[in-house]
Order: sequence, then C-alpha cells, then structure tokens
Amino acid sequence: MRHAIPNKRADIMKDLFDSVKFGDLKLNSRIVRTGLWESQREQSGNLTPEIYNRYENIAASGVGLIITELISLYPKDSFSKYSHTPHFKQFVREMKDLTDLVHTYDVPIFAQVGFVQFNKKANQNMRVEDISIDDIRKIQTDYIITAKKLDFAGFDGIQIALGNYYFLTRFINPHFNTRDDEYGGSTFNRLKIVLEIIKVIKDNTNLHVNVRLNAFDDQINGMTVDETVEIAKLLEKYGADSIQVTRPRSPQFFTGQNKKNPLIEASEEIISNVNIPVILGGGSSSQNQINKILNTTNIDFISMQRPFVADPSFLVEWYVEGNGESKCRTCNNCYWKKTSTCHVNKSPTLNVD
Ligand code: SF4
Repeated sequence: MRHAIPNKRADIMKDLFDSVKFGDLKLNSRIVRTGLWESQREQSGNLTPEIYNRYENIAASGVGLIITELISLYPKDSFSKYSHTPHFKQFVREMKDLTDLVHTYDVPIFAQVGFVQFNKKANQNMRVEDISIDDIRKIQTDYIITAKKLDFAGFDGIQIALGNYYFLTRFINPHFNTRDDEYGGSTFNRLKIVLEIIKVIKDNTNLHVNVRLNAFDDQINGMTVDETVEIAKLLEKYGADSIQVTRPRSPQFFTGQNKKNPLIEASEEIISNVNIPVILGGGSSSQNQINKILNTTNIDFISMQRPFVADPSFLVEWYVEGNGESKCRTCNNCYWKKTSTCHVNKSPTLNVD
C-alpha cells in the first residue's frame, strides 16, 4: 500500500493520497471514482475485455473507492442502452469477476443503481404522482432484488441514485412530487420510498449503502440546501452509511481561486449536520486544487468522473509528479454522447498487464 507524499507545506494536514477510513471501509486515498455511462459492454450485456482493463487500470492507479457506471434498474428505460443491467442472465457471474479484479488492488467497489423513466405498458415516462402504491412496491422490490444480486457479486456497497434527474430524484423533490398520500407532502413522506428500500437492504445484505444526492437545484419550490440537510439527516437515521453530494447537471470543473463554489459550501453544511462520510461530487481537476479543498474545508472525500474517462490511470502520474492536472478538456462529448471513453484522449490507458 502506498503512503501519502509528505507535504512540503507544514500547514497542509490532509493529502488526497492519505489512507483513510470510510465508514467500515479502508480507502487507499481520498479520491472516489464515479462512473456515468457504459459504452463498451456488448449488446447482450456481457462485459468486454476493454471494461475489465479499464477497471484494472483505475483500481491500480491509487484510487480510494470505485463507483460503477449506472446499473439501470429497468431494461425499457431509454437510458438502459448506455448502462449495465441486472436483468442480464450472466450479471452476477461477470460482475463477480469485476469485483474480484478490483479487490486484487485492495480497492472497494460500489454499484450505482438507478433509473430515469418508469414505464408501465402503454404508459411511458410516468410522472411521480401517476404511480400507484403497487408501483412503489415494485420499485422497492426491484431495488432489493438487485441489491441481493450485487451482494452475491461481491460488491462492497450500493449507491442509490438520488442525484441529477433520475426518477427517485424527482420523487423526493417537492417541485415534482405533488402526491397527497403517505408518499407525498412532508420531507419524510417524499423520502419514505427510499428509507424503506435502505432498511430492507441493510437488514438483508452486507452492503454499504451510499446515496447520491443533489445539494440544490434550480426548480421553483425545488431542492434547497436546508431541505437537503434534512434529507441527509433522515438518510443517516434510517441506515445510509454515506452520502455523495452532487448537483442536477454535470458539474463543470471548479474555477475561480478566490470564489467559493456553491457545491462546496453546500457540502460543508451537510457534513456539519451528519456523522457519516460525505463525498464532494465532481468538479475537481487538479491535485493542488483538491488538496486546497481538503485543507480549507471539512471535506474529506472527493469524487471524479471525467478525469478517469480522459485517462483511467492519471493518479499514477499525479502521485509521481505531485502537482498533476487532469487531461480532460471539459468538451463534455463523453457526457452528451453517453460514452465511457474519451473523445479527445483516444488511447490514454496504461495497461497494467
Ligand atoms: S470527452 Fe471531453 S469531457 Fe469527456 S473526458 Fe474527454 S476531454 Fe473530458
């Protein structure tokens, strides 16, 4: 295991390469790799050598925790064609190969699970207020069955996708949820569908439960930081083990040396109100910038997505050089074209074989 590079500045107490505790897990660094779209799986669902190679390069790079690309709960969700699916009959076997590979490097791995659209027969992309109690039970059951599969497949944790604009993100949001039953109205009622899922997963699996959550949004009567703090406290109370804070749209890299980013400020507020680990989601692109955030805020964990798309092994260079910058040029083509590969850095990977 590698150790943190000694900092030349005596006032810097934290370093991104610190070995740290994350709940019950031990991480080799403070960097969390987050995935988004998967474009290299076979149409049948099989994982390709390119995927195993990418994960091995990330795991070997010095990352602390890996969160997969989206595992799409419903095959008819239009975003499923860019995602893994638990309905694939070899899902457990192939994912077990993937988790075994990642664990070779003493790196824990979480599966990101969510869906964007809820479709029922002819009813496509149903609204939050249109789904019945039976539909809610179906969603909860599907999450729990998937969690059991993940447990069998050797994952260390599950990430429930409540960020960006996934279906459950809209469900907990007062702008979208106008239900007048026990799953609408108060913060607790809107979150109840998720709290019930978490409780059953914690009672029936060994998985760490992480929730990816928007800190705020730009909707009228939507999410505010105060509302997110209340949600974070409820999540902790009902069994969530950690939280990742994000925002509805893919965050641009932080700019402006002296201006505080609202996502950082919101994360600090959430961290000061819960006792579980909180990850700052996205927006970081340089080693100095990350160490500055770590040492001027209460933030201990930082997730990155596009830097790993641009170069799955970039942390190796950062560790050696000490002042690394991401190769990502923020063109956002991987985001809009929904690929797990970079459109600028065409052959970036260091093959560890
Ligand atoms: S495609 Fe663009 S945004 Fe995506 S990783 Fe490459 S340079 Fe970055």
